[in-house]
Amino acid sequence: MKYILVTGGSRGIGRAICLKLAETGLPVIINYQSNTAAAEEVKGLIEAAGGQAELLPFDVAKQEQVEAALDAWEARHPEDYISVLVNNAGIRRDNVMFMMSDEEWHQVVDTSLNGFFYLTRRVLKHMMPRRRGGRIVNVTSLSGLKGMPGQTNYSAAKAALIGATKALAQEVAARSVTVNAVAPGFIETDMTKELPVEELKKLVPMQRFGRPEEVAAAVAFLASDEASYITGEVISINGGLYT
Ligand code: NAP
Repeated sequence: MKYILVTGGSRGIGRAICLKLAETGLPVIINYQSNTAAAEEVKGLIEAAGGQAELLPFDVAKQEQVEAALDAWEARHPEDYISVLVNNAGIRRDNVMFMMSDEEWHQVVDTSLNGFFYLTRRVLKHMMPRRRGGRIVNVTSLSGLKGMPGQTNYSAAKAALIGATKALAQEVAARSVTVNAVAPGFIETDMTKELPVEELKKLVPMQRFGRPEEVAAAVAFLASDEASYITGEVISINGGLYT
């Protein structure tokens, strides 16, 4: 049986992606770091709608945790494989570069970029054999496309994720695995709740922040059979903020 794995699925954009992808009827594996109550809530909503879900907590930035979690999942699911992977987990640790600590730099890069590497390398083993195919969708950011002041760490990690998306797409295309990215602008989640929303909204041609569901819709399309000939692409979801 095929499964969907979404990292950072307990809150925000990842939560919306879990709920949307569960509509496919495939079971959803909800990864998160520590917020079990929020992840349980997402699982409950999926089940209430007639879908299937399970929790798989691990820190994407810690290779040993990624390997241990996937080992345990595979042992419980000898006949199953992950056919859709959404690399969504990410954090912000904003600071101007001359004040930025080693920790702020490494935490952000470790989560968005190294997390993508550890998990995707591992999950490709599910997709590559016998040309089973698969879908990988990476959640990058407007910051990775245009660069944002105060976010050299985050912009670097998200820009690197775009480069990796394009390179990996070409590596695995012959195996019917597609690799794409979405690049949200300002989306209403915990990550943006402390920003000066009223001021920032004025910068957006649509005059509002996006909703997590608006990102999830694009991810669901890229994860679908309909998107079978799209790979190495980055879709901006930003209300016209940067085109
Ligand atoms: P959020 O509301 O802060 O949620 C973050 C999610 O990631 C939570 O589920 C959290 O789990 C999980 N997470 C964080 N670090 C993790 C780790 N090391 N291992 C596993 N899970 C981890 O963030 P969001 O706004 O939904 O952002 C989701 C993605 O979209 C991120 O990659 C972010 O960079 C990107 N993005 C967001 C925006 C925006 O405006 N919000 C714009 C562009 C891109 P816990 O609940 O356990 O803490």
